[in-house]
Amino acid sequence: MTGSTPDLSAEWRERARRFAEREVKPRALSIDREDRVPESLVRALARERFAGLGVPESWDGVGGDTRSTVAVLEELAYGSAAVAVLLAVHLSVCAAPILEHGTDTQRERFLRPLARGERIGAFGLTEPGAGSDTARIATRYVRGSDGFVLHGTKMFTSNAVSAGVILVFATSDPKLGNRGISAFIVPPGTAGFSVAQRMDKLGLRGSETTELVLDDVRLPADALLGEEGTGLRIALGALAGGRVGIASCALGVARAAFEEMRRSVRRVDAEWKRPLLARAYAELSAARALVERAAARKDAGVPFVQEASVAKLVASRAAVSIASAGVDVAGFEGVRTGAAPERLLRDARVFPIVEGTTEIQELILARSLLRGEPGPSL
Ligand SMILES: Cc1cc2nc3c(=O)[nH]c(=O)nc-3n(C[C@H](O)[C@H](O)[C@H](O)COP(=O)(O)OP(=O)(O)OC[C@H]3O[C@@H](n4cnc5c(N)ncnc54)[C@H](O)[C@@H]3O)c2cc1C
Repeated sequence: MTGSTPDLSAEWRERARRFAEREVKPRALSIDREDRVPESLVRALARERFAGLGVPESWDGVGGDTRSTVAVLEELAYGSAAVAVLLAVHLSVCAAPILEHGTDTQRERFLRPLARGERIGAFGLTEPGAGSDTARIATRYVRGSDGFVLHGTKMFTSNAVSAGVILVFATSDPKLGNRGISAFIVPPGTAGFSVAQRMDKLGLRGSETTELVLDDVRLPADALLGEEGTGLRIALGALAGGRVGIASCALGVARAAFEEMRRSVRRVDAEWKRPLLARAYAELSAARALVERAAARKDAGVPFVQEASVAKLVASRAAVSIASAGVDVAGFEGVRTGAAPERLLRDARVFPIVEGTTEIQELILARSLLRGEPGPSL
C-alpha cells in the first residue's frame, strides 16, 4: 500500500509533538477564551514549515505525504483543535487545489507564499442557502471584458480574517446546477470583498468563522482556477482530501480527551469508571486505524473517498463520545468552565458538522456501496 517511498511521518509527528507541547498546549485555554489564535503562533507554525506540507520543494513547500500531514494535524489538535483546523483548511482546501489545478503563474503568485506560511489559505463554498447541498450556490459571476465580476455571500468561512488567499466558488447560472460552478482565487484586498461578520460558536473557538460579502468583485481572467464549469469538481476533490485532515484533527481531540480521562481515573479510581476508559481506548484505536488507512490510500494514489468519509465519520463520533465520557468521569470538574474536559467536549461537538456533516458522509458511503464500490479495503 505504501510502496517504496520512505515513511517520513514519524519524524514529522515527533516535530509536531514537541511543538504542540511547547507552543500550543499552554495556549489552548486562552485561544478558547479569547476566540483567537495569536499571530505569533501562526508565524511559529510557518517557521516549523508545517504550512508547506504536501507542497513540493520546487514550489517552496516541504513535500511530505498525507501520512505526515495527518500526523502533524493530530499532534497539533492534541494541543488545540483550533490551531490544527487552521492548518488543515490552509493545506487541504486551499494550497492543495491550487497545486493540483493552478497554472504555473497562479502557483508562482499564490502557492509559494502559502507554502512558506507567509499567507494563510481559506475556502469559501458554503452560503446561507447552500450548506450540505453545495449545488445550490447562488454567488454569481459574469464574464467581463477583461475578467470576471463576482457578487454574493459566503458563510462560515474559516481563516478568512487573516487569509491571504481565498478560493471562492460561484455560478454563472444557478439553472446549470453543478456544471455552472467555477472556482476563483481571490486575494482578500480586492475591492468589493469584505468580511461582514465573525461568528461566535460553541467549540473550535479561535478558528475564525466568518461571513464574506462579494459586492461586484472584479477579478482578472487568470483568477479562474481550472476550467470554467469545473468548480464543484475542484471543491469536492479538495473536500475529500480535507476530510482525512479533519478526521485527524478529530483524532487529536479524541486522544486529548482520552488522556484527560485516564489522568482523572488515576487520580480517583472507581470500578464504574474502568469500562468507560476501556471503551474510550477502543474507540480511539478504531479511529486511528481508519485515519491511517485513508491517508495510506491517498498516498498510494488509489481511491480513498469512501475511506475518507469513514474516517471522518468515525473519528468525529469518537471525539464526541470520548469527550462526553470524560466529562462524566470527571464529575463537576468536567463541566467547570475552563477545565479541559469541558473545552474538549465543545471542540469535539463541531467535528461532525465541519467539512461535510455525518449525515452527508453516510449518504456518500451509501451511494458508493449501492453502486457496488468496492470495498477492496473492507
Ligand atoms: C467550524 C466550521 C467551519 C467551517 N468552515 C468552512 C469553510 O472554511 N468553508 C466553507 O465553505 N464552509 C465551512 N463550514 C460550513 C460547513 O461545511 C457546513 O456547516 C456544512 O456543510 C453543513 O451545512 P449547513 O451548516 O448549512 O447545514 P445544513 O446543510 O443545513 O444541514 C443541517 C442538518 O441537516 C442535515 N442534512 C442536510 N442535508 C441532508 C440530507 N440530504 N440528508 C440527511 N441529512 C441532511 C445535516 O447533516 C445537518 O445535520 C464550516 C462549518 C463549521 C461548523
